[in-house]
Amino acid sequence: MPKRSKRIDWQDLQDRIIGLGEDSLKKSHYPELQTRLRELERFRALLDLSSDIVLIIDINTERVVDWNLAARTALGHREMPPLADLDAAPLQAFLHEDHAPCSERPDMCSRTLITSFRRADGSPIPVEIAISLRIGGTERLAIAVGRDITERLRTEQRLRRAATVFDNSVDGIIVLNADKTIAAVNPAFTQITGFSATEVIEQPISMLRSSRHGEDFYHGIQAAMQQKGQWLGELWSTRKSGQDLPLWLSISAVHDDNGIAIQYVCVFSDISRLKESERRLEHLAHHDPLTQMPNRLMLATALNRALIRSKRTGSLLALLFIDIDRFKTINDTLGHQTGDLLLQAVAHRISNSVRAADFTAHMSGDEFAVLLEDISSIDDAAKVARKIVLSFADPFDLDGFDAFVSLSIGITIYPEHGQTASALLRNGDSAMHHAKSEGGNRFRIYTRELTKIAFKNLQIETSLRHAIDDGELELFYQPQFRLSDDALCGAEALVRWQHPKRGTIPPNVFIPRAEQTGLIIPMGAHLLLDACHRSKSWIDQGLVAVPVAVNISGVQINSSPIVETVTEALDLSGLPPSLLKLEITESFAMHGTQGSIDRLYALRALGIELAIDDFGTGYASLAYLRELPVTIIKIDREFVHNIPDHRGDCAIIEAIIAMAHGLGLVVVAEGVETEAQKAFLKQSGCDIMQGYLGGRPAPHGDFAKRLHPRPGK
Ligand code: C2E
Ligand code: MG
Ligand code: MG
Repeated sequence: MPKRSKRIDWQDLQDRIIGLGEDSLKKSHYPELQTRLRELERFRALLDLSSDIVLIIDINTERVVDWNLAARTALGHREMPPLADLDAAPLQAFLHEDHAPCSERPDMCSRTLITSFRRADGSPIPVEIAISLRIGGTERLAIAVGRDITERLRTEQRLRRAATVFDNSVDGIIVLNADKTIAAVNPAFTQITGFSATEVIEQPISMLRSSRHGEDFYHGIQAAMQQKGQWLGELWSTRKSGQDLPLWLSISAVHDDNGIAIQYVCVFSDISRLKESERRLEHLAHHDPLTQMPNRLMLATALNRALIRSKRTGSLLALLFIDIDRFKTINDTLGHQTGDLLLQAVAHRISNSVRAADFTAHMSGDEFAVLLEDISSIDDAAKVARKIVLSFADPFDLDGFDAFVSLSIGITIYPEHGQTASALLRNGDSAMHHAKSEGGNRFRIYTRELTKIAFKNLQIETSLRHAIDDGELELFYQPQFRLSDDALCGAEALVRWQHPKRGTIPPNVFIPRAEQTGLIIPMGAHLLLDACHRSKSWIDQGLVAVPVAVNISGVQINSSPIVETVTEALDLSGLPPSLLKLEITESFAMHGTQGSIDRLYALRALGIELAIDDFGTGYASLAYLRELPVTIIKIDREFVHNIPDHRGDCAIIEAIIAMAHGLGLVVVAEGVETEAQKAFLKQSGCDIMQGYLGGRPAPHGDFAKRLHPRPGK
């Protein structure tokens, strides 16, 4: 055991002083001792006041000879009296086995080192100590003043970790100084923006601004930073290349102990991909996928905005509501793929007919719209509509096939025809239907009258559904006469709707609606069966029945089992097929797909004759008719109307008759109203005539009176 005398024995000194007693001390003859003791007390108090760990080490014995309160607390010996049993405290016992190896022994000079002390419970405590030597005579003391650096090491570790995050983050990080100049950027920043660190450091952050935001936007950010110390949101920046760069950015202020912002940390991610898919989604939601034109939704937005502008400036605004004529027929006959091709071509042609600044939209199916702002009169809108209609005079090339397509356009003007987007759209639709009901290939300007008509149309559609069941549909019969001998040779069955309230409604009013809604299919089947039963009843009554021609819609041929329907009607009625003829329109025959042509052959194979109706109106070529199993053509009454005075029409009729005969077809002239017309037709070699001259369409009973009884009956 080393000798105690080598140490400053505080305990012993204190014990002795206490042993003397306060009174005796006061009277003491040892004033030096008293002074020395006071010094010592002050020194100890001072030592214990220090927050630094103080160890006094005897270098000769390598033992700790004293320690202060901070040392006892840090090492977990707080409860120990200051000088308790330090005999058992070799320096080694204070050092943790993990302590940083210290190659130089601390006996040379004063120095600082970092090591690990050992707590009472054996755990390490990292310390930074400064050691100074006191060498006097035989006494060689080292005073170690140290500090617990657990916190500091933790902070350093945190910083190291933060640096790793900073360097490896996929998010861009910018550290700003209080004056908003750039203090540091990470590699991701460079990767995203294209700027290297040296290019931006010490530059003001405003160098990364985009012109997409105004001053107000940045003021908003500043205000939020001042109020809440942070900002989070989307922001446009600029890449080094000058390209716009959308970012998702968070800015947080770093405050000092006084709450003053000393730095700002901006963390951002590049959201250009997200923006792009958002843009694509947005495009999808607002554009027609087929034509890429703005859709109905976007039209509504554009129209509303235009209305606000017009209201403010007092200018006129026009909406052109456009619909392709007979698109359904085209789609049904040529197939949906060709229909799509046509829609794209139509969209293109409409766009090319208007100025780039005019807003065009593809609303749905075959409906388009054009918005004209700042027009000076209705005439301006009419001029544009006329231009669009005329641009459709040339045929469309659909897979090598020339298709003639026309449009119906309805025009509404703000403020005259409506104050709101929905009123303008509704009235544009009415005007368009008006154009359509007049035969299409034209435009019509909205009038208040049209609202009533549109309403009537809607009513028609609803009540038409009941008309079939309620037996309100009736076939009228119009006689046909052979021109060579004026003999009754047939009849055409023409439907009439006997409406309980509105009286007789002609087919032109409700057939197009029935075709659009598909109602034509059950209705057509019903009428066909009715016609067959009626003809058979004439035979049963002992009359000489003549062949009856029934009109068939293209929709029936394309979208219903027409061959089965006809077979069933013949079977159920028992009518010989030779007494039934079917009329199909020229435009349908022209656009026939292979499937529909096959069906026509199957019908012909049943022994039924087929006629092409309204010949001359649908650009059919007689040569093409050779491909079809038709036996009759009916010249449209528009041509018949002008003969014999109109030389052009006369020439056309003569040519049609000659060519039809060349193809072995029977020619029927429709709409013959005068003797002069009849004479011309007879002279031109026409076979059969039909028209008011011979007789108007009449109820079956009236027509039956024209039929002769069978000889012998
Ligand atoms: P369409 O088949 O061309 O019928 C001839 C039309 O001309 C009939 O009109 C007839 O009344 C009319 N008409 C006949 N002679 C004359 C005349 O001398 N002068 C004038 N101005 N007109 C004459 P309607 O009955 O109004 O039928 C119109 C169209 O409705 C028909 O034209 C036909 O396409 C269609 N239609 C009629 N009934 C049916 C039917 O049962 N089914 C189908 N799918 N369509 C039908
Ligand atoms: Mg007809
Ligand atoms: Mg006709």
